[in-house]
Amino acid sequence: MTPNDEPGAVVGDAALANAALRLDTGWTIRWIRRSAEVLAANRAALNTLDRDIGDGDHGENMDRGFQAILPKLEELTDETTPGAVLKLVATTLISTVGGAAGPLYGTAFLKAAGAVGAVQSLDATALVALLTAARDGIVLRGKAVEGDKTMIDAWTPAVNAASAAQTAGSPVGTVLLAAADAAEHGAQSTEPLVARKGRASYLGERAIGHRDPGSQSTSLLLRAAADLMSHH
Ligand code: ADP
Ligand code: MG
Repeated sequence: MTPNDEPGAVVGDAALANAALRLDTGWTIRWIRRSAEVLAANRAALNTLDRDIGDGDHGENMDRGFQAILPKLEELTDETTPGAVLKLVATTLISTVGGAAGPLYGTAFLKAAGAVGAVQSLDATALVALLTAARDGIVLRGKAVEGDKTMIDAWTPAVNAASAAQTAGSPVGTVLLAAADAAEHGAQSTEPLVARKGRASYLGERAIGHRDPGSQSTSLLLRAAADLMSHH
């Protein structure tokens, strides 16, 4: 047993990693790379969710979009910022992903980029601004409210949890973890709902018992961000 196997030491390490965590440009790039990996691994699962209550292409759409971003990340210069990375994600998703999710996530990343501006590193306040702007962009575009069984059911709890954690003075890693946990619960919470937006809304009560695919992809994206804490 190494010292790191002791529960106390593990908690200590996590707390240290959290305190040292800097959401800088390198972190933002790692987040997007990790997201591409996670979406590729979940491509079939997201397609299956969308097959149940939509047209079966959500995994394919998200995977195509994030794979298209990867080569563009290589072209970024050393002077780039987290906001510039988010903007690159936005423009790529808008131009490569069709359907509802492309413009919705594209707008989310575009508004997020605008919210963080030209800073080199995101503190807890900037992270909350990023998440809030992303959610507001999706609402502006898709007009969904919580309970409509869309990705908003993951985003809004994530924004609320992140905002509460930030207000309580938590470090940025804790804020991120709160967002990821809330998005995961939010995605789960779509299962008993009837959809009021998107393709699933044509199904009426037949959508009950199925998780909304967009809420699941949102949960995966935020979990990918939070997971980077332990690999920093
Ligand atoms: P499409 O429905 O065009 O095939 P996708 O399958 O890629 O596009 O994305 C479907 C997801 O988009 C849904 O699961 C839902 O989360 C999200 N969505 C659809 N319409 C809206 C909307 N008006 N507001 C927010 N999210 C929406
Ligand atoms: Mg679809």
